[in-house]
Amino acid sequence: MRTLLIANWKMHYGPMKAGGWIRAFRRERLPKDLDIAVAVPHVSLAASRASLGRASIPALAAQDAFWAQDGAFTGEVSPSMLLEFGVQFCLVGHSERRIYLGETDEMVGKKAATLQAAGIVPVICVGENEAQLKKGEVSKVLKAQVAAAIASLKPDGKTPFVFAYEPVWSIGTGKPCPPQKAKEAHEIIRSAIQKKFGQSVAEHVRVIYGGSVDAHNISEYVTTTGVNGALVGGASLDPRAFALLCRTANPA
Ligand code: PEP
Repeated sequence: MRTLLIANWKMHYGPMKAGGWIRAFRRERLPKDLDIAVAVPHVSLAASRASLGRASIPALAAQDAFWAQDGAFTGEVSPSMLLEFGVQFCLVGHSERRIYLGETDEMVGKKAATLQAAGIVPVICVGENEAQLKKGEVSKVLKAQVAAAIASLKPDGKTPFVFAYEPVWSIGTGKPCPPQKAKEAHEIIRSAIQKKFGQSVAEHVRVIYGGSVDAHNISEYVTTTGVNGALVGGASLDPRAFALLCRTANPA
């Protein structure tokens, strides 16, 4: 399975700065054996696409999409609109959206299904918060989040889906989850997928890790069984640092 690394700019880099990041990143030496994507704010999709032209490294990703293709949903952006920019991946259910915007498991499931139906790979973010970790609820939380997220997904469609295990206590805190703990969480996620879709589907779903990943610790994750890549926030804001992280993930 190819390793997938996704840069998540979060709410950084509007259209004036997006092109500069893309050009600086593409000037770097980039490994060919990795899938690399960059999740940019919606308003920066056009500038990012203009800088990329037809190039597909990095692939373009969005940070969210609505669960309908058009209609009376003021302020929202649909998967079919994202397709106009050649978006290949889209995050859904990032914990910052769950926390600050009240996104529920059900909304995440609807968004993932609409993206997949449109041909965009949903990157579904799940993970426990600190209180849930302390109460020993990691497995319970992950199983519920995954079950809701895959409720309307198709296992055999042309468009796959990706899970990102992102323990909330680790995002932006400089406290990465130990790789062995991440491995256990990835196993819980994969077995929830297996329960619904069977083993061969579960084996082929990429489950990536996110939470304080940087160029110093990326190798520990990508060499851990069952960890198929990383979602990288803070350490992706500098294009050179993110390129170094990509090279470190795949030194070949
Ligand atoms: C994220 O934004 O999904 C993330 C993992 O952030 P950070 O790498 O900064 O912890």
